[in-house]
Amino acid sequence: MAEKVLSVKNLITAFRIDKKEYPVLRDISFDIYENETVCMVGESGCGKSVTTLSIMGLLPENAVVQQGEIELCGEIISGKSQKELNKVRGSKMGMIFQEPMTSLNPLLTIGHQLTEGLIRHKGMSKKEAYATAVQYLELVGIANAESRMKQYPFQLSGGLRQRVMIAMVMSMQPKLLIADEPTTALDVTIQKQVLILLNKLKKTMNTGVLFITHDLGVVAEIADRVIVLYSGTKVEEGSAKQIFENNMHPYTQGLLAAVPNVDKDDFEIKAIPGTFPAITETIVGCRFHPRCPYATDRCRSEIPQAIEYEKGHFVACHKVEEENKC
Ligand code: SF4
Repeated sequence: MAEKVLSVKNLITAFRIDKKEYPVLRDISFDIYENETVCMVGESGCGKSVTTLSIMGLLPENAVVQQGEIELCGEIISGKSQKELNKVRGSKMGMIFQEPMTSLNPLLTIGHQLTEGLIRHKGMSKKEAYATAVQYLELVGIANAESRMKQYPFQLSGGLRQRVMIAMVMSMQPKLLIADEPTTALDVTIQKQVLILLNKLKKTMNTGVLFITHDLGVVAEIADRVIVLYSGTKVEEGSAKQIFENNMHPYTQGLLAAVPNVDKDDFEIKAIPGTFPAITETIVGCRFHPRCPYATDRCRSEIPQAIEYEKGHFVACHKVEEENKC
């Protein structure tokens, strides 16, 4: 049976603005198992990246975890000091960002950056680290790996830099990989190659993957499970099949309807009406109610709780609850 890699329980993360704290994540819970890709989707500002930064312990100074517990491979990591987290980051969990230059040092060669972590975290000798680094560059499909080791990041294309970043993270063999929009800045062909590569590495190394994206096409390709976030709230969670074929929450349905189907002659983009709420905005009841076509008085006064309607399929919506009452 697959082991649990990550467990996030009742996480509330808030931002401090003008001495007041505003929740950005509202009681988020989810698990990730080994060899599983969980995609987190939702509009910009819904809390996807704040979730990853909360897990990594890399929140900005004005953010605070008000409540919740984060467990990585059976070890509680929430509340640990940066020194303790440094040991966990890199060895047990790795992160790939949209722009690899945020993680690669422009002043150091690729080889230096790849071997550094292996020497520090894995206790390898320089020779072993060099051989391992070359091996991982080859694994991610980089030709002439030995000569690439001598190059600087600026000498590589965006796609190659992202591959180097993946090689660097995967060479540490993390149990959890967090990928935050890793293919957004790449062109479609390279994007496809990177997705195939991540999937292959996940299977080879039994890694659990948390994949953040706003691109439902990418989700359809790689997700085992999907979490839909709206304004810091988990509104629906299910297997990729459940989310794409039997979605229940009006927001999930709105997101999917907003994907243009270019195969149809009369394709149109059906945007979700209204605007995404600011974090400072007080909304009583369901946070989606100002934009929801089915909102009732109950929706405007009572926060819907997540209910499991079929195995592993959770939805937080009064309408869905009422429609599924026995
Ligand atoms: Fe819409 Fe009400 Fe469901 Fe919220 S709880 S998504 S407002 S029907």
